[in-house]
Amino acid sequence: MVSQSTPRTLANNKAKAIVDAAYFGKYCIAAVCCYNLESIIATVRAAEAKQSPCLIQLFPWSIEYADGLLLHAAAEACAKASVPMAVHMDHAQSPEIIRRSADLGGFDGIMVDMSHYDDEENLRLSKELVQYCNERGIITECEPGRINGTEDGIQDTADMEEILTSPEQAEQFVALGIDWLAPAFGNVHGVYGPKGPQLDFPRLEAVHKAVGDRVRLVLHGAHEKYFQKDLLRKCIGHGMAKLNVNGPVAAAWTKVGAELTGKVPLTTVVEEQTKAMQAVVEEHMDWLYSTGKAAQNGTS
Ligand SMILES: [Zn+2]
Repeated sequence: MVSQSTPRTLANNKAKAIVDAAYFGKYCIAAVCCYNLESIIATVRAAEAKQSPCLIQLFPWSIEYADGLLLHAAAEACAKASVPMAVHMDHAQSPEIIRRSADLGGFDGIMVDMSHYDDEENLRLSKELVQYCNERGIITECEPGRINGTEDGIQDTADMEEILTSPEQAEQFVALGIDWLAPAFGNVHGVYGPKGPQLDFPRLEAVHKAVGDRVRLVLHGAHEKYFQKDLLRKCIGHGMAKLNVNGPVAAAWTKVGAELTGKVPLTTVVEEQTKAMQAVVEEHMDWLYSTGKAAQNGTS
């Protein structure tokens, strides 16, 4: 295991190793969006209970809200976990927040999301910021095209045009030296329209074929109403090696809080919220085939 005192380099990057092992082992890593210490604790407990490698994800919101406090708690939790774990920044959407986050120390990966700019500007800014992260031993994820919609932590793109990722665009981003690529193939953030997800699997397959095993594909916009065991496994079959899990974990927290607040001691509320979030993460690990893979993951 890479200890906290070991300088982070691209060669010893834990996030990269965790998702690489999943890709070649034909399973997928849950990247759990955390907003507080309890969700970090729940994610580590789920990973250890399921013997599953896992990622903790933070949004730029966490840095704006708490500077590096939540990040450093997450990094310490990952370093102490008995299974392979690492910390990734999801949807960092301005050059300023990316540089600030990279400089804080603690992130293993950062999503350089310039998808709200036009293609040319997306590529130009991404190139510069990927290099900035890489120089600090941090791997990057980019989004060629544009995944539409909104959810907690992400800038609303509802008034912008959805742009599905083409194999050519994917290739341009691979050339920047990214490690993970988030394709837009009909997936949207947050709630889907009345028809549900209209996923373009031939497009996803073409993107997968174009990038080959040079970068890992990441699934965004997997709303829990549709993306359960079967659909998630279909996506894994098309090369997805990391799944962002956001809504259902946050929903477990708020639901239990609403049910118990004022009726039981606060410590009990917090513990029950943690348990409920842990259960959601564990269920995803089973769906993603990552349960039991900690020993083979080879990064701890
Ligand atoms: Zn996303």
